[in-house]
Amino acid sequence: MKYALITGGSRGIGKAICIELAKDGFYVLINYRSNTTEAQNTLNEITENGGQGELLPFDVSNGEEVKNAIECWTQNNPGKAINVLVNNAGITNDNLLVFMSYEQWNSVLRTNLDSFYFTTKQVITNMIVSKWGRIINIVSLSGQKGMAGQVNYTAAKAGVIGATKSLAMEVGKKKITVNAVAPGFIKTDMTKGLDEDELKKLIPLNRFGTAQEVAYAVAFLASDKAAYITGETISINGGMYS
Ligand code: NAP
Repeated sequence: MKYALITGGSRGIGKAICIELAKDGFYVLINYRSNTTEAQNTLNEITENGGQGELLPFDVSNGEEVKNAIECWTQNNPGKAINVLVNNAGITNDNLLVFMSYEQWNSVLRTNLDSFYFTTKQVITNMIVSKWGRIINIVSLSGQKGMAGQVNYTAAKAGVIGATKSLAMEVGKKKITVNAVAPGFIKTDMTKGLDEDELKKLIPLNRFGTAQEVAYAVAFLASDKAAYITGETISINGGMYS
């Protein structure tokens, strides 16, 4: 059995990824920050459908917490290792740069970019030793094309796209692939304040996407079918930008 850690698995895109990977036979470690009820709902949905998993709460923006949680899981599960890491947890805190506080900049950079470093550092050695691994980073259309009001978020997501390419080059010989998935507008809590009727006019497919549609691509990248894809960013945005 392979083990998959999905950060931000309690809600939205992360929840759909947890459920999809469990269907594919992965034992799923569901990370979240504070919403235990929703994380438990994700796990219940998995187990009701015959899948397996457990909750693994920690704050991805806190390096010590990440290290302690993953080390603790590894110690309690001798002989097991995280084979698939999906760096999905993320936040926005939008403002025009002229009005943006350092706290708005810093919190978004820490949660969306530093988190990549914290989590990946904890799992990469075992992947190298076992000569197999999948790292999948959820980035954003904003990080590819830019978005007014999101200088902090686009800097973080573009940073992860760059890190994806470099890490793919570092670990390819060990059969570890590193890819990014870049959603456009997806219906989740993150976008619930947006005016879909207005914004869908900008989208060639004329609608917001679903978390499930992102999860299908992540499940493909996690599978052996995607063994020759690495350093890539797959856009899932209804045709807005490629
Ligand atoms: P969401 O519905 O707001 O869910 C966010 C998830 O991340 C929750 O599970 C939350 O846990 C977790 N989380 C947030 N901060 C965390 C932290 N510091 N430590 C651990 N977990 C944390 O978001 P979403 O729309 O599914 O977005 C998922 C990813 O897709 C993000 O990286 C986002 O930037 C990206 N994305 C989303 C869209 C979109 O249109 N929705 C578009 C492009 C990219 P709690 O439940 O405990 O709070």
